[in-house]
Amino acid sequence: MNERIYLDHAATTPPDPRVVEAMLPYLSDLWGNPSSIYAEAQEARKGLDGARRAIAGLLACKPQEVIFTSCATESDNLALRGVAYASRNRGNHVVTCAVEHHAVLHAAERLEQEGFRLTYLPVDGEGFIDLAELERAVGDDTTLVSIMLANNEVGTIEPVAEAVRIVKAKNPHAAFHTDAVQGVGTLDLNVDALGVDLLSIGAHKFYGPKGVGALYVRSRTPLLAQMLGGAQEKNRRAGTENVAYAVGMARAMALAYEEFDARNALYRSLRDRLLDELPSRVPFTHVTGPKDRSRRLSNSASFCFEFIEGEAILMALDLQGVAASSGSACTSGSLEPSHVLTAMGLPLELARGSLRLTVGRENTMEQIDRVLDILPSIVSRLRSLSPTWPEREGAEAKSSRERPL
Ligand code: PLP
Repeated sequence: MNERIYLDHAATTPPDPRVVEAMLPYLSDLWGNPSSIYAEAQEARKGLDGARRAIAGLLACKPQEVIFTSCATESDNLALRGVAYASRNRGNHVVTCAVEHHAVLHAAERLEQEGFRLTYLPVDGEGFIDLAELERAVGDDTTLVSIMLANNEVGTIEPVAEAVRIVKAKNPHAAFHTDAVQGVGTLDLNVDALGVDLLSIGAHKFYGPKGVGALYVRSRTPLLAQMLGGAQEKNRRAGTENVAYAVGMARAMALAYEEFDARNALYRSLRDRLLDELPSRVPFTHVTGPKDRSRRLSNSASFCFEFIEGEAILMALDLQGVAASSGSACTSGSLEPSHVLTAMGLPLELARGSLRLTVGRENTMEQIDRVLDILPSIVSRLRSLSPTWPEREGAEAKSSRERPL
């Protein structure tokens, strides 16, 4: 009964002990600087090269196309700023979309302040980008398009391969970046099948350590380094590489794909139970994100509850041993409704009542059933305290499924 139930795997994941084990030698005996030439350095270099090869193998790219960074945020910033500035002689137009993570959106807004022209594509009610708008937006002066592979708040899997085809048909010189942070271990990340030129990942989202990420950059893509100093990462990202963490990220990614089928089958069964059961157990509840489950991340279930604040649900769940999120981790704690839900057209009051439950490899069906048991009473208690809760005759009896968003 006192066991904690962690349902916030889109925010971060617990490091896999096998990952920690792979890292440990590089935090003790193998401490050399991988850029030096003596024996100590060579051991570190071997670890770093091995990690790069392993990640490249999983992305189906060349090892030299993988740049190690300090986190996915840095990868996104390097992609946007690096390509926009390196391509400025050809154009100053960048296209992205309204539901990107702030790592992309805030980098895009800064580019706008610095004189670039930005287009933010709209999304529909399920979070999908509008491909016709994308086609209209791309012009001769477009140098970069950045569309996420999957959304961290509502699990929408964007049609990236199709978007790449549309962009390249209109302007073959425009580079295409995807933030694939939520897709590692849940989606196929073959960069040629996707057709992308740049792709960001961050290790702590797939049972690796925090403080390390990578950016795939297709050969010959223009990129201006943003971190200046040494010649590391072939002059594309200065700073002594974090060897142990790069090794950990590679091990975590290898495990995610070795165990892909089993992990995703479990995620899907847990997610589907949440999506099937919550709206019928809690009145006035809406599922957010794609209705077609094959187009939503296997581990992601997201909801909005009417007449209630998401933050209040999180606190009540926490007291009962459940860790969850309202919108993205970065916006929880603030009362601003999520930019993702508002871009999807949800009314502000509804967007404020959002709950995201993202499952992981250590979750069980018993844990999901416990959450399904406790949520209805949490919601009805909070609603009874809410000034906006209309005590309408028979309101509870009406199924939320009958009410359109
Ligand atoms: N992109 C997406 C889609 C994310 O979900 C996150 C983290 O939530 C990030 C980027 C940024 O990751 P980090 O904070 O680890 O740099």
